Amino acid sequence: MTTTYLNLIDGQPVPASTGLTVDVIDPADGERFATLPRSTAADVDAAVAAARRAFHGPWGRMTATERGRVLTRLSQLITQHHAELAELESRDAGKPIQQARVDITACARYFEYYGGAADKLHGETIPYAAGSTVMALRVPHGVTGHIIPWNYPAQIYGRSVGGALAAGNACVVKPAEDACLTPLRISALALDAGLPPGALNIVCGLGIEAGAALAAHPGINHISFTGSTVTGTAVAQAAAVNHVPVTLELGGKAPQILFADADLDAALPVVVNAIVQNAGQTCSAGSRVLIERGIYDQVLAKLKARFEALRTGPGAGAPDCGPLINRKQLERVQGKLDSARAAGAEVVARAQLLAEAPKTGFYFPPALLAGVPLDHEVAQDEVFGPVLAAFAFDGEDEAAQLANGTPYGLTAAVWTRDGGRALRMAHRIEAGQVFINNYGAGGGIELPFGGMKHSGYGREKALEGLKSFTTLKTIAISHG
Ligand code: NDP
Repeated sequence: MTTTYLNLIDGQPVPASTGLTVDVIDPADGERFATLPRSTAADVDAAVAAARRAFHGPWGRMTATERGRVLTRLSQLITQHHAELAELESRDAGKPIQQARVDITACARYFEYYGGAADKLHGETIPYAAGSTVMALRVPHGVTGHIIPWNYPAQIYGRSVGGALAAGNACVVKPAEDACLTPLRISALALDAGLPPGALNIVCGLGIEAGAALAAHPGINHISFTGSTVTGTAVAQAAAVNHVPVTLELGGKAPQILFADADLDAALPVVVNAIVQNAGQTCSAGSRVLIERGIYDQVLAKLKARFEALRTGPGAGAPDCGPLINRKQLERVQGKLDSARAAGAEVVARAQLLAEAPKTGFYFPPALLAGVPLDHEVAQDEVFGPVLAAFAFDGEDEAAQLANGTPYGLTAAVWTRDGGRALRMAHRIEAGQVFINNYGAGGGIELPFGGMKHSGYGREKALEGLKSFTTLKTIAISHG
């Protein structure tokens, strides 16, 4: 039986104005199990108008403390519905159920964090001319647009919408067509938590239709986008026409740097998890492992054993690795692996595919590669699948050169027992986050997160993320 999901506009569940729908496919077996509205510019218009009314109406009139209480109640409701939401996230996005549970916990935590922060965001007073008082107020942008990808729908929705609402904005969200269901369900819970209708609107559909209409909408005052570099560029160009600020989170090519003195027992499980988590479909996936030459063979042998023990299968069975999101992504990842092999790379290890994995599902057992040419796309660009490429280096200079030798700069990890070296490397690596002797792919609600270079600009998560959903208004008073 297929379920019919609807948009949420002005607090009401509504179909697309055209009545058209998009199929929702279960990545575990390739079968359709629901439909979504295929929204167009007209639906985006209606959502932006509803958000504007809420911003100038009941939502805009709430105090910061009242807003914070609504978000805190939403966090509690997410926790109460944790099992239901985790199952929905696992089925919709193909995630191993244990990963989906972590994601729902993180989503609840974003609303808890930003709910608590809502009335602690202060402006400043500024010393100025004699006989004057100047204050810089932090005010919301107004109506914010949120374009959410399919890899962490609940988490990215939480970090983006949580911050925007806490700051007092009204939101219009375009989730990815492949993973809309938890954002829709949580937005319904937000109404139960006391969020006024129109403060949070969800418009489902295709990126090139509903997403493009949202990015170009003149009634939007800020856009938060997470996704590919190409689409991020298109979103920023569309927003530029309306002079709208954008936060772009565009992925990475994160290196895990293992020096010969590293604690390998601590490092290797983390290195494997950093690429296998969410089937490698993580912007901060640790997709390159840089190994000091003296321990290269030893580390590769240990990683091989770990990869060969990994189980790939349907998310509901709690495997190590679930299916990829859709057939296109499966073909894209397979194409990149084939291309790397043709360029001389060796597949050192491949994980197992469980017998119960349906043939029609989108499974790609994790792969460990060596000998990938440094200029090949698998060494340079996101694979967005569970493919780890290993490289050898000699000393800190070469490690830093390799680490920085891609267009991206999102996250990195350094593994060493030498504290001075760890800090020298952390300063040299061009990335928004550097972890030393640990790695937090996708985690860290309290930690500012965002990229350098082609990984994007602006920061999400943490109080920095809350600030990016505000702008400054300066009031200068002359009083003699
Ligand atoms: P996209 O960047 O195309 O999708 C991200 C979001 O943007 C989705 O909500 C999508 O909607 C929407 N979108 C698509 N086209 C437009 C548009 N013209 N205007 C506005 N919004 C749009 O990523 P893909 O799904 O195509 O994945 C391709 C690659 O992108 C991956 O292999 C990976 O490398 C990278 N990626 C990176 C992510 C990250 O976390 N940094 C997340 C997702 C992808 P819809 O899905 O409905 O088309």
